[in-house]
Amino acid sequence: MTTHTVVMIPGDGIGPEVTDAAKMVLEAAEAPVSFIDRHAGVAALDRGADDVLPQDTVEAVREHGIALKGPCTTPVGGGFSSVNVALRKKLNLYAAVRPVRSLPGVKTRYENVDLVIVRENTEGLYSGIENLITEGVIVSMKVATREACERIARFTFRYATHRERKKVAAFHKANIMKLGDGLFIDEARKIHEKDYPNIKYEEVIIDAALMRIVQDPTQFDILLCENLYGDIVSDLCAGLVGGLGVTPGANIGDKDAVFEAVHGSAPDIAGQNLANPLAIIMSASMMLNHISATRQDDSAGAAGVKIKDAYNKALEDGQKTRDLGGELGTREFAEAIIDRLNG
Ligand code: ATP
Repeated sequence: MTTHTVVMIPGDGIGPEVTDAAKMVLEAAEAPVSFIDRHAGVAALDRGADDVLPQDTVEAVREHGIALKGPCTTPVGGGFSSVNVALRKKLNLYAAVRPVRSLPGVKTRYENVDLVIVRENTEGLYSGIENLITEGVIVSMKVATREACERIARFTFRYATHRERKKVAAFHKANIMKLGDGLFIDEARKIHEKDYPNIKYEEVIIDAALMRIVQDPTQFDILLCENLYGDIVSDLCAGLVGGLGVTPGANIGDKDAVFEAVHGSAPDIAGQNLANPLAIIMSASMMLNHISATRQDDSAGAAGVKIKDAYNKALEDGQKTRDLGGELGTREFAEAIIDRLNG
């Protein structure tokens, strides 16, 4: 059996606890993966690195192509740029994919939510280009290039096709940012018309889109967003299904892929066995599906499905961490999943 090397980046805050839990579940499911640990964030600085994103961490992901990453903190001040933004840019992980689904046993205001946010990960207001024009006047650049707009739109329609999804909605504010957001939706529209006419496509102004989501999230399917809108829409959608503890994510490029939960390092609950590891466990299950699809390894796909069935079963049985109204700690919830791996 082939074993795929996964670069494990525990990260900061609750990162080490939740990635440990994910590792326990992957091992118990006999997923065909092995791990090498690399560090990023404050954890890297604490180990003597001179940057929050050490070169050997980036190189390891380049070499092995797959990483499972906990949240990383970028210290404010000290001149460090964001770990997450830098990793996505260096590895050209241009698509963030964030599925948001209602979970069994997790009661929220909505039922049957099944959305996927596809966020452009490399430009927009995350270009990091800010100019001090004169004292008290700053200009932050929102960058849109035809290449990146086209690339993310093509990725989204391809993803929709593979997953047999029916609709794509592009969120924008092209009524105000006529050129930048205009380019974003023009490219999506062109690709839709030319190559994917069978998938329904609509363009929705971001403010109206958010109102529609909270009125009835089931009217949407795949949400195509530029970088900042994707960030905001992700947290809003997480709130529809139980919060940050249950929202997984993947950052995907043409070569490499980094799987991580949407949540941050949650310093308020770090080190207390209180964090919900489900989001990173769900991300690990996405990782196995990705390995299965890109490396034609059915055993990885089977382990991904096994883990998904087990966490759904655990939730159905009322096994929950505190953020979902339960009483289990991080480790105990991982154990509850492991207990259900074999039906
Ligand atoms: P960042 O700036 O790193 O994205 P943030 O401050 O926006 O982080 P998070 O750290 O993601 O936000 O979390 C906000 C709050 O949500 C946390 O302080 C915590 O109380 C809760 N939270 C986040 N993730 C989890 C989790 N996995 N389990 C339980 N609670 C969580």
